[in-house]
Amino acid sequence: MNAKSPVPRAVLHIDMNAFYCSCHAAAEPKRYAGRPTAVAGSPETRHGVVVTASYEARSRGVRATMTVTQALRTCPELLLIAPDFQLYRRLSKAVFDIVRQYTPDVEVFSIDECWADVTHVPFCGSTSDLAREIQKRLHRELKLPCSIGIAPNKFLAKMASDLHKPQGLTEISLHNLVEVLWPMPVGQMFGVGPKTAERLVRMGISTIGALAAANPEHLSHRLGKRGRQLVELANGRDFAEISSAPEPLKSIGHTITLAKDLSHPEDMATVLMNLADQVGRRVRRHRLVGKTVQLTLRFDSRRTITREQTLPIPTALTEILYDTALSLLHNHLPKAAKVRLLGITLGHLQPEETAILEKHSRTNGTPESIQLSLFSTGSVFEDITGSSQQNFIPSESPLGNALPPPQQRNLDRLRRLSQVTDALRDKYGESIVLRGRMLTQDESQHLREHQTRGTSLQKDILSWPEGGETWPKDGKET
Ligand SMILES: [Mg+2]
Repeated sequence: MNAKSPVPRAVLHIDMNAFYCSCHAAAEPKRYAGRPTAVAGSPETRHGVVVTASYEARSRGVRATMTVTQALRTCPELLLIAPDFQLYRRLSKAVFDIVRQYTPDVEVFSIDECWADVTHVPFCGSTSDLAREIQKRLHRELKLPCSIGIAPNKFLAKMASDLHKPQGLTEISLHNLVEVLWPMPVGQMFGVGPKTAERLVRMGISTIGALAAANPEHLSHRLGKRGRQLVELANGRDFAEISSAPEPLKSIGHTITLAKDLSHPEDMATVLMNLADQVGRRVRRHRLVGKTVQLTLRFDSRRTITREQTLPIPTALTEILYDTALSLLHNHLPKAAKVRLLGITLGHLQPEETAILEKHSRTNGTPESIQLSLFSTGSVFEDITGSSQQNFIPSESPLGNALPPPQQRNLDRLRRLSQVTDALRDKYGESIVLRGRMLTQDESQHLREHQTRGTSLQKDILSWPEGGETWPKDGKET
């Protein structure tokens, strides 16, 4: 529907309450319903932090991002639950399926939030009656609580759903905006991050009302284009459409925080292989290819660096991701560095088909075999590609001679092999085909366990197990 249409819109923002904990309570009510629970990642390692706490746990002082130890000290009867992302994805899909029974105009914002434009939904009753019905159905059919915001636009609906939790139903209109929204601190406004909030407060703008009254010229001078937009939003003006099409992915990546700092390049290479494997799998599942490989390194000092390399040809092949990440590691790993976190991201993604077309129009008749990298994976590919001659790694490199010699890669063969192994793994599970380097004692091999994976990421990544589509919050998955 037209953004500037004179018909006032009716927009719902549906936000599931303590979603991960609620999913466990729904799946095993005898064990978890009505009890203080917390979903926490790997309690035995240092990223054992609370990801979500149930409302019963929150009322006893447990908060997200607390360490497991802190949480148990605060609430000794707390029940800790290991994450089950398959369960969350399944229930998330069930939630959105119910909402879509009312309108096709549903915009998924994260695994547990969506907007729905219900302007034209035939329903006898008010918009809040409709919202109440959806809320009741989600509770009755899925045993999941949610808060719903009702408003004439996305921004106000989002603000409204946040006001009463759990199981709230809150309406913000252009009439009650002044009493409801304007007294709130500017830092609580959707779209205002902590840094912007700090700047606004320093400018004397500490409430949403003060922002609404601010001079847009003055503010855009200080904050750029965003300044003017924020004044508009604070006045309740938001013409953004509900877009049911998922945003195209710009990048796909994985990072992993290690339980023990790594100082041996050989061990880092093993982690990189597992990261490259899962990034490659996901990129291929989306039928995408990417042009830039980014390596993220965090050291024991907590200093974090990212280093990037652009590929001659966009790819989704694990071997090339691995080789490139390894070469970045080789070039940028300081001597005697201890590494706490490693990550690989493939960026500048584009659909596989467009990349193939581009390649054909650009390089007619290029030989198939391309020297892509200085390093080999020392993997199952040696027997099909043959090994070769020379070691390019300078002896003063921190990687030393830990890595096998370079070789020619036949792209087409790699691609065909990827298709076969992907098909096998889709059918029989991730571990049915593994490269030798992937079998390790460190936690990077858990990247293949999709059920628990995600806790080290601390992000809500929405990825349907059956279809493989992904809707990250901002077009970027990490
Ligand atoms: Mg929520």
